Amino acid sequence: MDFSLDPMVELVRKVARDFAETYFEEGLARKIDEKEEFPFDLFKKAANLRLVRPSIPVEYGGGGFNMLAEAIVHEEFNRVDSTLGQAILSGAFGSKLIYLFGTEKQKSKYLRKTLNGDAVMYAAFTEPDHGSDITRLSTKAFRVGEKWIINGVKTFITNAPIADFGVVLCQMEYNGDKPHRHQIMFIVDNDHQGVKVNPMKGKLGQRASPVGEIIFDQVELSDEDILGMAGRGFYQALEFFNYGRVRAASNAIGMALNAFDHAFKYASERIQFDKTIIEYQAVSHKLALMAQLIEASKLLTYRAAWSLDNKKIDKELKTFYSAIAKRYATESAWKVIDMALQIHGGYGYFKDMNIERLLRDSRVLRIYEGTSEIMNEIIVGELKRGDIKL
Ligand SMILES: Cc1cc2nc3c(=O)[nH]c(=O)nc-3n(C[C@H](O)[C@H](O)[C@H](O)COP(=O)(O)OP(=O)(O)OC[C@H]3O[C@@H](n4cnc5c(N)ncnc54)[C@H](O)[C@@H]3O)c2cc1C
Repeated sequence: MDFSLDPMVELVRKVARDFAETYFEEGLARKIDEKEEFPFDLFKKAANLRLVRPSIPVEYGGGGFNMLAEAIVHEEFNRVDSTLGQAILSGAFGSKLIYLFGTEKQKSKYLRKTLNGDAVMYAAFTEPDHGSDITRLSTKAFRVGEKWIINGVKTFITNAPIADFGVVLCQMEYNGDKPHRHQIMFIVDNDHQGVKVNPMKGKLGQRASPVGEIIFDQVELSDEDILGMAGRGFYQALEFFNYGRVRAASNAIGMALNAFDHAFKYASERIQFDKTIIEYQAVSHKLALMAQLIEASKLLTYRAAWSLDNKKIDKELKTFYSAIAKRYATESAWKVIDMALQIHGGYGYFKDMNIERLLRDSRVLRIYEGTSEIMNEIIVGELKRGDIKL
């Protein structure tokens, strides 16, 4: 077993860190957090350096590396700034779906555009009545002659208000069979007739990443707009979620590291009762625990990323590792950031220290890409099936 990172991945880490340290200004981050604005300029700049999706081949606009390199970019960006890091790397949310299941025509029409930073995209699964459970959907796709007609509402969709296009998971007719066996994905342009987006303002955190509701009213599509295979939509979504969960775990690690760095520095400088507060075991042991949570999160997340890059690993194990990494790293980040705030005392509670923004930005990591409770369901579900032994 070798725990060292490949020199190529270390190089990606350095490029990502240099980029974030050069461009992620605190003033800009605070402004876009307050105004709920997407950083288009930095999305384009990061895309020019192939940092938006390092795991996708260069010919489609990716970095040509692997999922581990992608995880490291998420970590580095979020270590420097959670608001900017998360928003920029979500600008191409759903691009992996097009890479995994798209035709060459779809890849050249859509994938390159978003990975070059010229288009923002979304991936829409959630509906008002179907969140954790998307085995059945209310957004319907009907075949009418040569065409498809879709009707329905998707909610909480990241980037919907600013996107050029996105991927939508729909329900086909299932005639008494299990509905999830009859789902289908389409790529839909936002300016397509019958598509309406309502922005959803007032989020707690990750406010530079706009979210919206999308209404599909008699939207007419063709076979060319199908992503992957009709009937396989649900299974395609499950495969995609493994990658999203590793990204969410990596965002969490970056945010936790950011909080740790600040807390360690503050504890080493802040004097109370004539000593720096790091001299008190109640404080130093918090830092020790934070370090343990972060290190364990890294190991689990790197293993999950490695498994996604490895064709020899079974798909059940990829799902298992990704769910464990996502749950552990996101729950740990929340604990680490809370401890960092405690170490900052009253100062941590105000915007000046940025810990409160980290706390807000990290909270949703335990909800989207599958909640922590659903991660536990997946983990125990895989164990109950008996294929995976600890
Ligand atoms: C900021 C933000 C951005 C998002 N971006 C996107 C996006 O881009 N695309 C997209 O499709 N969706 C997106 N979502 C939606 C997100 O994936 C869902 O919110 C999430 O999957 C949970 O669904 P829900 O909100 O309907 O909660 P519910 O599914 O209603 O769950 C409510 C509670 O019940 C618990 N629960 C549900 N079922 C079980 C169970 N079987 N066992 C134990 N507990 C259970 C949940 O864990 C949760 O605590 C986003 C959400 C947010 C907040």
